[in-house]
Amino acid sequence: MGVFVAVDQVEKVFNLTNGGQYLALKGIDLQIKKGEFISLIGHSGCGKSTLLNMIAGLDLPSDGVVTLEGQRINQPGPDRMVVFQNYSLLPWLTVRENIALAVEEVLPHIPKGERRQIIETNIDLVGLRHAADKPPGQLSGGMKQRVAIARALAIRPKLLLLDEPFGALDALTRGNLQEQLMKICEANHVTAVMVTHDVDEAVLLSDRIVMLTNGPGSKIGGILEVDIPR
Ligand code: ADP
Ligand code: ADP
Repeated sequence: MGVFVAVDQVEKVFNLTNGGQYLALKGIDLQIKKGEFISLIGHSGCGKSTLLNMIAGLDLPSDGVVTLEGQRINQPGPDRMVVFQNYSLLPWLTVRENIALAVEEVLPHIPKGERRQIIETNIDLVGLRHAADKPPGQLSGGMKQRVAIARALAIRPKLLLLDEPFGALDALTRGNLQEQLMKICEANHVTAVMVTHDVDEAVLLSDRIVMLTNGPGSKIGGILEVDIPR
């Protein structure tokens, strides 16, 4: 299968408030195939989130390009859903309403009955039928992150982007959720990019691990890629 996402000679310079500049990424090349699960790892500050944000279109490269199916990414869009560590759910809505809001916003052209079905299917996908009528405040952290994942997947993005999705969870919950996400992504051929600093998590979930080797004390500009046999 051909290249789905291409990161081509990407550089990122941040302008600092003191008038200085910080070179966060340089010379980054990365190609992602459809259906692949990729993890971005590396020490804190090496530019993982910066790279993910550029694939999301939340931030722009200073040089180089990121493309999805050959189209330059220069703004965020519902074809690239991001799941953040802090869930980002609306606290006054129920689980079902949080998912429905995204589905109604992104898929307004789909008949109402079909939309309802998509919502219910994705509630079941993450095992939250028993909590569908509860607001996020009544849920555990793991449950909240399952809602965020269901909301992201419900609108069928081309790319699922995850930034430390399990970072706020206790070890047991994290383990359960890692297994669940792995199964969902495999069963639904989801193309995903996940930022994590947990190497075990990266090995468990990924087809390929991309380690950014930028940053203080190391040569700027590198990545190391490791394929994980599955
Ligand atoms: P990681 O996700 O690998 O921990 P980040 O991508 O968040 O790292 O950040 C990479 C580097 O860029 C860090 O040194 C960080 O301080 C810096 N950085 C990130 N965002 C900004 C910004 N908006 N302005 C200035 N520097 C930034
Ligand atoms: P998760 O693995 O998703 O964090 P747990 O295994 O911790 O969920 O929770 C098991 C069950 O206990 C959940 O299905 C839920 O019904 C209930 N539960 C856990 N935490 C809470 C909470 N803070 N408020 C209400 N119910 C909770």
